[in-house]
Parts: sequence; C-alpha cells; structure tokens
Amino acid sequence: MEISKIGVVGSGQMGNGIAQVAACSGFEVIMVDIEQSYLERGMKAIRDSLERLVRKDRMTESQSKEAISLISTGIGLANLSDCDLVIEAIPEIPELKFSTFSELDSTCKADAILASNTSSISINEIASHTSRPERVIGMHFMNPVPIMKLIEIINGTETSSDVTSSVLNASERMGKTPLSCMDSPGFVSNRILCPMINEAILTLEEGVAEPAAIDGIMKLGMNHPIGPLALADLIGLDTVLHIMGVLYEGFNDKKYAPAQLLKDMVEQGKLGRKSGSGFYDY
Ligand code: NAD
Repeated sequence: MEISKIGVVGSGQMGNGIAQVAACSGFEVIMVDIEQSYLERGMKAIRDSLERLVRKDRMTESQSKEAISLISTGIGLANLSDCDLVIEAIPEIPELKFSTFSELDSTCKADAILASNTSSISINEIASHTSRPERVIGMHFMNPVPIMKLIEIINGTETSSDVTSSVLNASERMGKTPLSCMDSPGFVSNRILCPMINEAILTLEEGVAEPAAIDGIMKLGMNHPIGPLALADLIGLDTVLHIMGVLYEGFNDKKYAPAQLLKDMVEQGKLGRKSGSGFYDY
C-alpha cells in the first residue's frame, strides 16, 4: 500500500518529532491535538528544530520551508479521515489510547493503517478496540525523534504482512532503521533496557558502589554512551517504574520486581531531570 499522507495524533515531545521527520521526507502530514495552544507549541518545536538543522548545514533553508509547508494542524480526530497512516503519540494512559483507537477506527478510511507509538501498552489490546486489528501496528520511535535512527516495529498477532511491509517502507523513507518484533511485554527495547537500569539501582541500594562508579563502569567497560542511572534520570524514574510494573505483571515473574529505592524515589518526587533531582542533581 502506497503511503502519502500521514496523520499524527498528539503534538507533544514525540508527536512533533514524528511530524517533523515525516514532513522532511516528503510526506504530507496533519498533526492533531486537543487544544490550539498545544499545536502552536508543537509547531514552534518543529520550527526551532529545523532552524538548528539549517544552522548546522544539515538542510537548506528552502528544504526547511518545504517541510513546514507539508504540515497542517487541526483539533480532533475528524481531520484524519483521508490519511493513509495514522501514528498516535498521546499520553501513555491505556484507557485514553483504547478510546482514541476506537474513534480512529470509525473516523479513518477503511484501508488506513493505525499505528501506536506506545512504549509499553500491548498492541494486541489496542487493536482489540478497533474492527481492523490486521491494520494496527506499533511504531515505537525513540526520543529525540529527529536524531534517533531506530523505530521498533511491533507486530500484533493479527497484523497483516502487507501492513508491516508498508510501515517498514514508510519508516525507511523517513530515514530511519525499522526493526521488527512481536507484541510482548516491554517489546524488545524496554524488556532489556529497564531490567538493566533496575539492576543498577539495586547495586546502588545494596551499597556496592556510588552512582558515578556504577555509571562509569558501564560507560567505560561496556562502551555505553551514558550510564544506567544517568539514563534513568533522562527517561524519568516514574516511567522506568511503570515499565518495570508492566514487565512484572506481564510475565508474572519476580525477577522483574522494581527496586525498593526506585519506588521510594518516585514516591518522594525524585523523577530525574524533569524534577531537577534523581540519581544526580540538575
Ligand atoms: P507528551 O505529553 O509530550 O505529548 C502528548 C500530547 O498528546 C499532548 O500534546 C496532549 O495534549 C496530546 N493529547 C492528549 N490527548 C489527546 C487526544 N485525545 N487527541 C489528540 N491529542 C491528545 O507525551 P510524549 O512524551 O510525546 O509521549 C507520547 C507517547 O509516546 C506515549 O505513549 C509515550 O509512552 C511514547 N513515547 C515517549 C517517549 C519519550 O521519551 N517521551 C519515547 C518513546 C515513546
């Protein structure tokens, strides 16, 4: 299936990044949100990001203008009726995603592909709220979207192979490297990443080493660009705790039990960079 028009639901951190990379690759894009001021904030983020790319000679002024001209905005899902692919990037709240997919199913054309950028919610469960589970798929972009190469493509049990190949093609056209997996708690990325972060927190909790040593050992010894505790601060400790909960419940295995220190820090509002304090102060 040829994809030419992409709808993006949500103009936040991820949604505006997805709209930007899609428009920079020549797709016509419509980005929707629930309030005009959120759309304006999203468009400002895109313009600022493109300006930086022009300053760094990564694109020309006219390419930047061309990309902006391909993006339109609107309030509400009714604006997405002629999109070939819709990528949802609204907050990680299961009930909100389910009702949004149910509405997308009745609003979008019958052959439109409905994709979710969820980090942790089951694609099969999202698909079950539509009448077209074979056309529902996960497209897990990484943050920041314009910089990170990977899109983790999550196939539901019923996702058709035609849908997967259309989404792989569109991802490549966006200059990304899409890698596929099946729907499973935490998919591949968070199933491996979050237990590693949790183990680093347990190591700190048990007094084995200080944060700088734990991060330094993983950076210098394993060639990781950032240590696991600094990464937890970047992701947000609440998000890490939430994903450990998804793994713990999804696999019903105590090896995924979140560290007590992680629970305590979230309880105390120490969420990492976004709250000004986590394993380090900001
Ligand atoms: P965000 O809070 O920055 O943005 C969400 C946007 O969705 C907001 O602008 C909000 O107004 C809008 N929204 C809420 N309800 C809506 C509705 N019914 N219709 C249209 N728009 C609506 O969130 P984010 O960080 O961009 O995350 C979005 C999704 O991406 C989540 O599922 C998250 O798990 C996933 N994700 C986030 C990251 C990350 O690092 N932030 C990385 C990968 C995936």
